[in-house]
Amino acid sequence: MDYRALSQLLFPHVTETIAELEARFPERGLKEGAKVTRIAPSPTGFVHFGNLFPALVSERLAHSSDGVFLLRIEDTDSKRKVDGAVELILSSFAYYGMRFDEGALIDEGGFGNYGPYYQSLRAPIYHVFAKSLLEQGLAYPCFCTKEELEAQHAKQEALKLTPGYYGDYAPCRDLTLNEIRANLDAGKSYVLRLRSPGVPGARIRFDDLIKGTLELDENYMDAVLLKSDGIPTYHFAHAVDDHLMRVTHVVRGEEWLSTLPLHIQLFSLLGFKRPKYVHIAHLMKRTPEGGKRKLSKRQDPEATLSFYRKAGYPVEGVREYVMSVLNSNYEDWRRANPDLKLEDFPFSIQKMSASGALFDLDKLDDISKERIARMDAKSVYYELLSWCEENEPDFAARLKADPGYAEAYLSIGRGGEKPRKDFAKFSEMPQAFAFFYDDLFRITDPLPENITADEANRILDAYESAYCESDDAQAWFDRLRKLALTLGYAAKPKDYQMDPAAYRGHVGDLSAVLRLVLTGRRNSPDLYQVMQVLGAARSRARLAKRF
Ligand code: GLU
Repeated sequence: MDYRALSQLLFPHVTETIAELEARFPERGLKEGAKVTRIAPSPTGFVHFGNLFPALVSERLAHSSDGVFLLRIEDTDSKRKVDGAVELILSSFAYYGMRFDEGALIDEGGFGNYGPYYQSLRAPIYHVFAKSLLEQGLAYPCFCTKEELEAQHAKQEALKLTPGYYGDYAPCRDLTLNEIRANLDAGKSYVLRLRSPGVPGARIRFDDLIKGTLELDENYMDAVLLKSDGIPTYHFAHAVDDHLMRVTHVVRGEEWLSTLPLHIQLFSLLGFKRPKYVHIAHLMKRTPEGGKRKLSKRQDPEATLSFYRKAGYPVEGVREYVMSVLNSNYEDWRRANPDLKLEDFPFSIQKMSASGALFDLDKLDDISKERIARMDAKSVYYELLSWCEENEPDFAARLKADPGYAEAYLSIGRGGEKPRKDFAKFSEMPQAFAFFYDDLFRITDPLPENITADEANRILDAYESAYCESDDAQAWFDRLRKLALTLGYAAKPKDYQMDPAAYRGHVGDLSAVLRLVLTGRRNSPDLYQVMQVLGAARSRARLAKRF
């Protein structure tokens, strides 16, 4: 077979050479140890929560080594293309703080010197390599129809053979140039296949940076490189793109391990230096039966990345949760360094676990509570506002109408050594703070069991006349204690416990009644501070309530 003639027949228009491409996309000349990483999502209209893991690893590896982090859109599957999907990818990753140094933008090839960053715009590049493989006899056109492939598959199944295009089941492998020409003349469409040099039964060894040394079956399938429209399959595009974009570390989900032997073979046949691979284990979910399964797009709302934004989890809470799953020493580091940024954590591939972690929403809640508790009131205000603008516009309007008031109530219990940790998500706040607005304020809890309506009214009568708006925290509490004694209650719970017969109850009963009329609930942040924020007029109006 005259392979050169074959390559000319199939790719007459391709004149660029590999050497020219290598010169157009040269080695990056970064400093020693700098890593070039990428994420390469497909625009399917869905971003999985699991996508955040390779993304954060890639981002950390690049940015902690003065390297480059890039975004490539793998849009070679035109059947799966969805309107708005690229926008969704860009906005989702931007929301979680992924700063790309290079890569895809809407409606453009992208920014950076190693593009285009949309695979659909790179066909001319792939064709240069396809032509070269043809010239070397490492690829061939395959004219088999869908029906022929199905029939062959059925036969292999009946014979209990591994299904696929190889060996005796690769009818187009040995077509002559004349046969190929005749097929083309007859207008038959074709795909371009790899002529795999692999041998069934042979094994290859491979070092993954997380999984260690793996032994895998060598690829012996004549995999499709270019589809009939000339667009590559993921495998071929991955090899060409990661080579020409000078990617040093490929971080991706472990679902790609099964096709890794093909990728290894392609890198070697194309003469490319292989990047280092980091295959991340899947996040597993505990089933009610006690087993484990992958987070599923169809069954689990929390499998969708947008779930976390909608639920109002703080961005830093989600990022920290992902980091704590990725690196087992992260939580200890965080405890020792509560005020440092996540970027200051010395992330390391060696500390990553090779087996799947369990998805744990409670842990995400705990981490998020910690993060929200450590934010200052102004940051909470802005994050809450942006969540409300997307999800609760009425509350957003209130926040905007009086930012000072909102900041004041958001400050309660904040700061100091032990800030309150009541919120895991911003979505919990509108309801929790509603009582600060008169038109939303309702008394929703009942009176404590030991206080009758008459007794509550007696307490309120007394407090209304005793209340002094200029009291500081100490004076406020002293006054309440004094009032308790006057009304027959112990000034301290301890006094009551020592001699219950001597009192009607203790000072806590008084504050429970006050809390109920001021906040509508039996539980609230510090009552003195709540009253300070409500202000004297609003407090007095609420203290006028009688049961
Ligand atoms: N397009 C592939 C995906 O969305 C990318 C895999 C990779 O990172 O290499 O899963």
